[in-house]
Amino acid sequence: MSDLVTIEQALALVLARAAALPAESVPLAAAAGRFLAEQALATTDLPPFPSSAMDGFAIRSADTPGTLEIVAQIAAGSPASAALEPGQAMGISTGAVVPDGADAVVPIEHVVAVANSVEVAKAVPARSNVRPRGGDIRLGDAVIAAGRRLGVPQLAALAATGVAEVRCGRRPRVTILATGSELRRPGESLRPGEIYESNGLMLEAALTAAGAVVERLATAADDEDAHREALARGLAADVLVTSGGVSVGPHDLVRRLEVELGVAEIFWGVAMRPGKPLAFGVRGSTLVFGLPGNPVSSLVGCELFVLPAIRALQGASSPEPRFELATLGEALRRSPARDDLVRASIDLSAGAVLRPVVGQESHMIARTAIADALIHVPRGDGELAAGSTVRYLRLA
Ligand code: AMP
Ligand code: MG
Repeated sequence: MSDLVTIEQALALVLARAAALPAESVPLAAAAGRFLAEQALATTDLPPFPSSAMDGFAIRSADTPGTLEIVAQIAAGSPASAALEPGQAMGISTGAVVPDGADAVVPIEHVVAVANSVEVAKAVPARSNVRPRGGDIRLGDAVIAAGRRLGVPQLAALAATGVAEVRCGRRPRVTILATGSELRRPGESLRPGEIYESNGLMLEAALTAAGAVVERLATAADDEDAHREALARGLAADVLVTSGGVSVGPHDLVRRLEVELGVAEIFWGVAMRPGKPLAFGVRGSTLVFGLPGNPVSSLVGCELFVLPAIRALQGASSPEPRFELATLGEALRRSPARDDLVRASIDLSAGAVLRPVVGQESHMIARTAIADALIHVPRGDGELAAGSTVRYLRLA
């Protein structure tokens, strides 16, 4: 393993091959988590009419202070009523149309209403409690830019502006294959030499949450026929993600058989720990990730490279890992040759402080369960001092 690529190089090599899949129309109700392929435009002014921000009385600012005659009640959803004349007031609900002639709404709490008149003791400035037409957005303006993921606020914005359907990048079909003769399913009993298979489920959960349509194949034993058959099937997907069998051992068959099946390897080996023996290649438009079998290595490779690819395939404008900044709780030694990814919990009791968890070996997936973050320790000399600001990736 002499020609390791850096994390940055590896990510660039992956993203260069993860062009957005074709767009499709998606009903808004099914669009949560999808990425917009085209900007979405407002189908209406919002609000579509000058609307009241309060329950109260529509009035003319120039008539205040004063006693006004109540001539109507306007409910939300009613069409615009007759224009308000000088000296008049109209009862109005929150969200109802402010009538022509009125330039302010005085809240019900600020007036004394007696029979058919209302007493406004103080002057009410013009425009008080009136939401102007189009004050939030104008008809035809972009509500959301292309490439943006539709989260909770974005869905609400689209619904509010009357968008019923959006154009989104197609979801990538991803096949996940765990390899290893030693692997058993949770619930089965372990014979000597066996362990439980955890990468398949982990990858399925992570990739599904990122928007992929996942198929998980049965675990492949470490023999050529089992590998060949499963890999051939996986290569029909947009993305094939394998775990295990990409190191240098005699039972590590994945890379060799993928090459036989026509995969062109782009890189093998990333200067990072954990997760070094990671392979990436392509066959036609299929992206092929070979993640190492150690569970934490698989997790790191998925977070740094596979998830960004899944986002890019869906048309994300910023598919890269989303690093955040926080304070390092204890010193961490740097390695001159490779970047480290250190599992840590986030202590929020006094600003965000990252506390590395005890036990950082790449098989220690159980200890990883208490981690919230992967700290990025860039290659270099010396150490990152306690109290310094570092980049980290949040683990979901
Ligand atoms: P490999 O990359 O196949 O050499 O596997 C490295 C280590 O990870 C070995 O200890 C394997 O038993 C373990 N391992 C491989 N695949 C999985 C998996 N799907 N789930 C849990 N552990 C695994
Ligand atoms: Mg193996």
